[in-house]
Amino acid sequence: MRQDEIKYSLIIPIYNEGEGILEMYRRTINVLDSLNGSVELLFVNDGSCDESLTIIRKLHHTDRRVCYLSFGRNFGHQVAVTAGLNFARGKAIIVIDGDLQDPPELIPEIVEKWHQGYEIVYAKRVQRHKESCLKRFTAYVFYRFIRHLADIDIPTDTGDFCLMDRKVVRILNVMPERNRYIRGLRAWVGFKQTAVYFERDPRFLGEAKYTFCKSLSLAVSSLVSFSKAPLRISTYLGFASATAALLMSFLVLYWRISHPDSPLTGLTMIMMLVFLLSSVQLISVGILGEYIGQIFEEVKNRPLYTLAEVGGFENQDN
Ligand code: UDP
Ligand code: MG
Repeated sequence: MRQDEIKYSLIIPIYNEGEGILEMYRRTINVLDSLNGSVELLFVNDGSCDESLTIIRKLHHTDRRVCYLSFGRNFGHQVAVTAGLNFARGKAIIVIDGDLQDPPELIPEIVEKWHQGYEIVYAKRVQRHKESCLKRFTAYVFYRFIRHLADIDIPTDTGDFCLMDRKVVRILNVMPERNRYIRGLRAWVGFKQTAVYFERDPRFLGEAKYTFCKSLSLAVSSLVSFSKAPLRISTYLGFASATAALLMSFLVLYWRISHPDSPLTGLTMIMMLVFLLSSVQLISVGILGEYIGQIFEEVKNRPLYTLAEVGGFENQDN
């Protein structure tokens, strides 16, 4: 298929989703058939260790609209989406999870908004079905926290499920940073953006691949890459602890004068001060460390991912 012929590209990151890929393909193709224009389904196999790649390969041989990239190892969801964006050839590029939590049936409504002239159409969750209270609560807090602190306006309760115009993807593709928080980068680009609303289904099959630790790490790195506020927090903490120390020394002085025999004035106060100051220092060093860690990742400038196999891009040189 020639590049200028493809109208819609669908990027589907896959990490051990073997049991659900065929259902994903069936439901997606059903929807895409109803759209006017040619499509490509771009599966990005993010180092799965189950039968995902074999199934995708088979799909590619039976349906030439299916193409794929397969990483040398697991690089993470955001990197998989980035690779998809690098290779997608459509005029409108849609990112959708491979576990059917983002309903493909919403695509026509999203595409309709694109036809109305919006360059970015993101899907906003109004409800999450069958996800744990902890996940719902942490997601709720995180989206509001980052919205409050980030230097740009990142919409709340939106995942990566979205449509982006070629213009937007071209810009994302030349952004050099290695920390790929797609939702943030997408908001940074600007352009005309709008939301469509949906209820997030439970996973079709299998377990969530984002463990609590992976989600926490994504939350910290996205916060660090979109906001300098935490650095300021450590300065504020420093001022607050200095004020607290000053107040406490007055208190100790007062106590010493009014209760000369009380043991509280000595060791207890010193211990309290030591704990207070050292914890403030540790927090500040930790926050600095996060930023230095990110600078370190950026300057190493390694490729974002390694490709072990591709299907459907034989005449491409990227
Ligand atoms: N995924 C991936 N690499 C990873 C983890 C997840 O490509 O390291 C894919 C996964 O197969 C799915 C999507 O990213 O298609 C979202 O993952 P998951 O469902 O685990 O996230 P959640 O819906 O819990 O946020
Ligand atoms: Mg999911």
